[in-house]
Amino acid sequence: MPEITKVSVLGAGVLGTQIAYHTAYSGLQVVVYDISDDALTASRARMVETTELYKRDGVAGASEGKTDEAFDHLTFTTDLAAAVAEADLVIEAAPESLAIKRQLYKELAEVAPAHTIFATNSSTLLPSDLKDSTGRPDRFLAIHYANQIWIRNLAEIMGTSETDPTVVLDAIAFATATGMVPIEIKKEQPGYIINSLGVPFFMAAGKLWASGVADHETIDTVHRMTTLAPLGPFQTLDVIGLNTTFNIASASEDPGVREFAAALKEQYIDKGKLGTTTGEGFYKY
Ligand code: NAD
Repeated sequence: MPEITKVSVLGAGVLGTQIAYHTAYSGLQVVVYDISDDALTASRARMVETTELYKRDGVAGASEGKTDEAFDHLTFTTDLAAAVAEADLVIEAAPESLAIKRQLYKELAEVAPAHTIFATNSSTLLPSDLKDSTGRPDRFLAIHYANQIWIRNLAEIMGTSETDPTVVLDAIAFATATGMVPIEIKKEQPGYIINSLGVPFFMAAGKLWASGVADHETIDTVHRMTTLAPLGPFQTLDVIGLNTTFNIASASEDPGVREFAAALKEQYIDKGKLGTTTGEGFYKY
């Protein structure tokens, strides 16, 4: 298989926008697809805002005009067939709904070239949940990015038992070429490594806080001092977003975690304090 040079990103929301921009920033040709012109306009506007973050965070080349050059590699369309006509790789970042993703893969399978690799960025669905709708389970896998990919630059790569091993190698090469550290997940794991580690950790912190064992600053201090991590769990939750945290916590069967969800809703979410995006969460920004 020739090198991946043409990439299409399906779904231009929070993550799709970041994946598309970062891939274009790395010099590859990227087509961004979404179901409405409004979504594409908003995506492009977020990319323009992101250029300042690349500069602020010292991403290599950002202060030398590379942030503007990235736009030369980007096109936007609501036509799925046109979006993927030349794609070596399609990265799907559509809403986290099995029904929406399955339908999208069925439509995609009809219009994508035979050689195109399909990758899902889903955080909570396994590629096995989707592979049958792709029409090419051997050329399908997950490439899972983290929010703020320009600084959290890892890509978890996870195939199914049916994924062709050369496709995994192609995905690893693509991730490396786009400035990501490729993390190969050797067998399917819900939550990959990132959430398998992170969710129990954040929920443990939330339980300590909600049950009144310690305030959030104290818990963050203990974590920072004992692990030498730069951020404590509540500082990180403000970046992840307290809505996302609530969605995870409220789905738990652990009564302590559900107590955390209820406290989060009452003290933060209902007051519009959702973390760094709203200027206040556990901390003020
Ligand atoms: P989002 O809601 O911000 O964006 C989804 C986008 O998909 C929207 O722009 C929407 O218009 C578009 N869309 C709706 N129907 C579509 C269709 N049929 N075809 C193509 N696009 C369609 O969601 P998000 O947070 O960017 O999440 C997208 C995916 O990325 C999910 O699978 C999620 O699990 C994963 N993910 C999200 C994060 C995160 O921090 N937000 C991190 C890693 C992975």
